[in-house]
Amino acid sequence: MGRQHEQAAGEVLASQFMSQLQQLRDAMRGAGVDALWVSHPANVRALTGFSSPEDGRVLVTPDAATLYTDARYTVQAREESGLPQFIARPPETFKHAAALLKGQTVGFESDSLTVAGLDDLKEHWPDAKLVPLRGMIQGLRQIKTAQEIAAIRAAQNLADQVFNEVRPMIIAEVRELDIALEIETRLRRAGAGSAFGVIVASGPRGAMPHGLASERVIGDGELVTVDMGARLSGYNSDMTRTVAVGTPSDEMRRVYHAVLEAEEAAIRAVKPGVRAADLDRIARDVLTGHGLGEAFAHSLGHGVGLEVHEGPGLRGTSEDVLAAGMVITIEPGAYLPDVGGVRIEDLLLVTTDGYQVLSHAPKEPV
Ligand code: ZN
Ligand code: ZN
Repeated sequence: MGRQHEQAAGEVLASQFMSQLQQLRDAMRGAGVDALWVSHPANVRALTGFSSPEDGRVLVTPDAATLYTDARYTVQAREESGLPQFIARPPETFKHAAALLKGQTVGFESDSLTVAGLDDLKEHWPDAKLVPLRGMIQGLRQIKTAQEIAAIRAAQNLADQVFNEVRPMIIAEVRELDIALEIETRLRRAGAGSAFGVIVASGPRGAMPHGLASERVIGDGELVTVDMGARLSGYNSDMTRTVAVGTPSDEMRRVYHAVLEAEEAAIRAVKPGVRAADLDRIARDVLTGHGLGEAFAHSLGHGVGLEVHEGPGLRGTSEDVLAAGMVITIEPGAYLPDVGGVRIEDLLLVTTDGYQVLSHAPKEPV
């Protein structure tokens, strides 16, 4: 069972990478490049499945695609990579590639190549014309494959389970740090990792949208914002719940219900063809109606996948339009300096006729 099962999974993965390569080559032709040097780790992973993409590069040409990594990863790359591998260290890597690139126009990822990295390409590929490109693979990655959706779903299911287990521990007299530690430990025990530093922001710290867990002791009558994600098989989840410890003030309860109303209004509007900027506007208008427009100090959400924050961008200035297969967050918040804050975040899959909410941890009637 084991081996046959693995082989079948490998074949499915290989076909996934092939269809992605096809799309990528179309995009490369559109951008006028013959070849593409891929250095952004999440892009390397998306094209190959190689799970140490920081130490990998990919060269895509019209009729070949190769994963370059070094001898530390010979076995791992053979087991994981959907692309053929060339095992070497620079400068051998560049020399191997140079033979394929004479006289070619070669795109490189200008948003993830250092100045020194570009100098290396210039030195070793003197006959190639180097062209800076931004976000080409990131754009393709916005639409998830069935396998990617399954991986994100699994990560979120685990996050839901861990949140539900830890929720009873969020009580007065407990430190924020201990909540975060409990979440991280349970994720690790399940074979996952934390997608990002767990945010636990209680009482007045709730006014910090990215308040990493601190030594602060949670008090009675406070709201506590917990933002967490699991990273499983390279894919991330992302969810925020704001919970009440005891009975919060009337003011904070009012803020909670305003944020929940904004969140639900934006979620209901999710479907293919909707502009991301319009979703941001829907949530912002609800909060503005409650006098909290200024308090909503960040954008509505973002795509999630191999990276916690990726396209599409759900903000007022975004040009992105939703399409089926995108996985996005909807996460309005309201932050009142020195008083407290609320954020509620769900993870959604955009489907052909609307959306599916992937995060299931309950939202409490604060
Ligand atoms: Zn989050
Ligand atoms: Zn988020």
